[in-house]
Amino acid sequence: MTQNLETRLLIVGGGPGGYVAAIRAAQLGIQTVLVEAETLGGTCLNVGCIPSKALIHVADEYEKAVRYAGKGEMGIRVQAPTLDIGQAVKWKNGIVGKLTKGVAALLKKHDVQVIHGWARLVDGKTAEVVQHLDGQQSTLRIRCEHLLLATGSQSVELPFMPFGGKVISATQALSPTTLPERLVVVGGGYIGLELGIAYRKLGVAVTVVEAQERILPGYDSELTAPLLGNLKRLGINLHLGHKVLGLNSEGTAVRVSNTAEQISEIPADQVLVAVGRKPRTEGFGLETLLLDYNGSALKVDDQCRTSMRNVWAIGDLTGDAMLAHRAMAQGEMVADIIAGKHRHFLPAAIPAICFTDPEVVVVGLTPEQAQQQGIEHKTAMFPFAANGRSMTLGSTEGFVRVVARADNHRILGWQATGRGVSELSIAFVQSLEMGAQLEDIAATVHPHPTLGEAVQEAAMRALGHALHI
Ligand code: FAD
Ligand code: NAD
Repeated sequence: MTQNLETRLLIVGGGPGGYVAAIRAAQLGIQTVLVEAETLGGTCLNVGCIPSKALIHVADEYEKAVRYAGKGEMGIRVQAPTLDIGQAVKWKNGIVGKLTKGVAALLKKHDVQVIHGWARLVDGKTAEVVQHLDGQQSTLRIRCEHLLLATGSQSVELPFMPFGGKVISATQALSPTTLPERLVVVGGGYIGLELGIAYRKLGVAVTVVEAQERILPGYDSELTAPLLGNLKRLGINLHLGHKVLGLNSEGTAVRVSNTAEQISEIPADQVLVAVGRKPRTEGFGLETLLLDYNGSALKVDDQCRTSMRNVWAIGDLTGDAMLAHRAMAQGEMVADIIAGKHRHFLPAAIPAICFTDPEVVVVGLTPEQAQQQGIEHKTAMFPFAANGRSMTLGSTEGFVRVVARADNHRILGWQATGRGVSELSIAFVQSLEMGAQLEDIAATVHPHPTLGEAVQEAAMRALGHALHI
């Protein structure tokens, strides 16, 4: 049996890109249908940003308790803590459940029609969803004026070490039933380091194997130096410049080779493969639309239009930066454009945060990128070691660094590493979006005592008159 449904906007995928687009479109009076195969909230809420940050928090708290059970210099003494990983996962699932149910409630409140099922594209204006209701199978054929694709991304699999058994992706790593004794993490990028550190703090022996000579290869070495130091302090083994060859024949160790092609084995009870994510372009008839691609990502212009009229794409499906806030911003914009507003996706910067210990933030241009672009610039950094608030938090590693044009002092970028710097990223990106100059930041009264004072001091230092260093 086939049922027909007509709508102005059809959104495929209910992750942060798709659900935000749906809410905004409905606010603007656009009739909207959203199809989601799994749980609303997509990768971000279910198996990405939120659960990973919850698990990282559990690990931080546990490690703190372990430290207090030793000889904490603040004078706090506790009994040796124990870890109930089942309860930790339950707590994390509780947060995920609250947020995904919240998204469902918001969509309902805005009269977005949510269809649960796997959408298959028939053409640029039609999709079909096979539904199983009361034991009956039926096909829902949805016709639309605008089609918005927000199908996200999926983990890259290593062909010689596919997921299954002891080889896991981030999704399994976020819901452990028991913890392995020895975890080998393949990939020293966002996921490998965020989850590798969390597992180490939970007591697991962790080894990170990274193909490049550096961790977080996209970031400069000055910025990652405190993180590198902390990985060593935590006792995480690093194999940089190593290629993974696969599991040994017994399946008990990961075989790796270094740049000199010397092969060694790293014993492993579990292997987390985190070597990147790829846009989800297969399995739903996308190829029938013959759209243009940019590598493996769907090609879009600065309004998120694909090469077919009234077919739009947002989020991870459109490639880097595969970040939830980019997907959301694009989704909101597409809804506005469909409603007739003039919008372009040209943000001054998309902040990137690695929620490691210490955290690492990059917003806008680094000194190296400014150099490569031939921009005459000045740069200055202010260390948290000279910041009072950092001392009271017992965490003085890291710094804030600013990059500004040499001629008019307009700020081009900020980088920071240290405890809690993720929250400073908002000040960074606002200053770029508002076209601030170093003088604007230096003359803004920053509250005391805060980590944010390091932001003001970095700007002052770039102007040659830092006060506290
Ligand atoms: P997704 O969130 O992937 O959503 C796509 C949705 O489409 C999915 O729910 C999928 O089921 C559905 N779908 C796909 N095809 C179909 C179909 N044919 N029919 C019906 N439904 C379909 N980003 C950050 O900004 N900050 C972080 O801290 C962060 N941490 C992360 C941690 C991990 C472990 C991972 C894996 C990712 C993390 N990310 C983070 C990245 C972030 O999750 C993604 O950038 C974001 O979810 C992309 O949103 P999206 O809407 O494009 O796609
Ligand atoms: P990534 O691109 O951040 O890191 C992958 C790392 O694996 C790289 O350093 C790469 O050099 C290395 N690598 C690739 N192939 C390898 C191999 N064969 N052997 C050893 N190392 C290899 O990818 P990820 O960590 O899987 O994360 C995927 C994406 O998810 C990120 O790029 C990001 O967009 C998103 N994410 C964001 C956050 C955040 O915003 N805090 C957190 C997690 C994930």
